[in-house]
Amino acid sequence: MARDDGGALADRARGAMLGLAIGDALGATVEFMTPREISAQYGVHERICGGGWLRLEAGEVTDDTTMTLALGEAWLRARGVPDAEACAQAFDAWMRAKPVDIGNTVRRGIVRWRLSGSTEAPLSSDAGNGATMRCLPVALACLGAAQQVTAYAALVQARVTHNNPLTDVATLCVVDMVQSALLGAGQHAIVERAEMLAAQCPEFDFHGRHCDNPSGYIVDTMRAVCQSMARHDGFRAVLTDVVNRGGDADTTGAIAGMVMGALCGERALPPAWVGALRPTVRAACISMATGLIELAPLCYPQPTRSVI
Ligand SMILES: [Mg+2]
Repeated sequence: MARDDGGALADRARGAMLGLAIGDALGATVEFMTPREISAQYGVHERICGGGWLRLEAGEVTDDTTMTLALGEAWLRARGVPDAEACAQAFDAWMRAKPVDIGNTVRRGIVRWRLSGSTEAPLSSDAGNGATMRCLPVALACLGAAQQVTAYAALVQARVTHNNPLTDVATLCVVDMVQSALLGAGQHAIVERAEMLAAQCPEFDFHGRHCDNPSGYIVDTMRAVCQSMARHDGFRAVLTDVVNRGGDADTTGAIAGMVMGALCGERALPPAWVGALRPTVRAACISMATGLIELAPLCYPQPTRSVI
């Protein structure tokens, strides 16, 4: 790509990473609440103010952001696609650092690796959203890579903790959405990608009734995110809508945030939300986004060291 396009791309990459953190921080306050409880307590919840069941400080983030940063570090260390062992080591180091929260499937996967050395979770009916929430490094660093390299990178990190076809298709879909957004697609194109997911797997159909109180089941998560993106325009409106649905609101916020943040770029993010993130989180997101997009074959078309 021409170097003068690089500024816009870097802005979108930072927007994606900061958008993820904003959605996580905003949603964490109301995680596990119902829309009725949120409305009684906050009216419309639209302030990054901490609290919630994790008793967070204002601007603090949860596993969605910190696991993403851990996976991103593995990419920067490998200067290319981290293999399964490198992903497992990154997640293990992340868990040893005592994150504020950790999903059951993620914990089980990391413990299995510690005990057996196996980097692949067995095929399971457990279609959790933990592999999807942390996929952003793949979208950024694989921009312009061959499709099979991107798919390999998306699934090798997923497989350490998750092995379910619904989680796989959702993870690939979110990577695809972020990459389309980075390349300047409009929101309608993102919603069309969501329609493709629903056509591929009818479980993900997001039409019809309002998807409230989404669980950590990836189908519930994606239906809420896709419905918010289909029914509302722009970063602030989509993020506000999705977190006020409650349930696993930090993860719906994180996924919607990375896609919508890639669409609008850092400069168009709501300043009050960017400013409400803890300075260390903000700095880590900006630095990681910059490091990962510099690995992207689209920016620097030398061959990325690949394990496949
Ligand atoms: Mg979380």
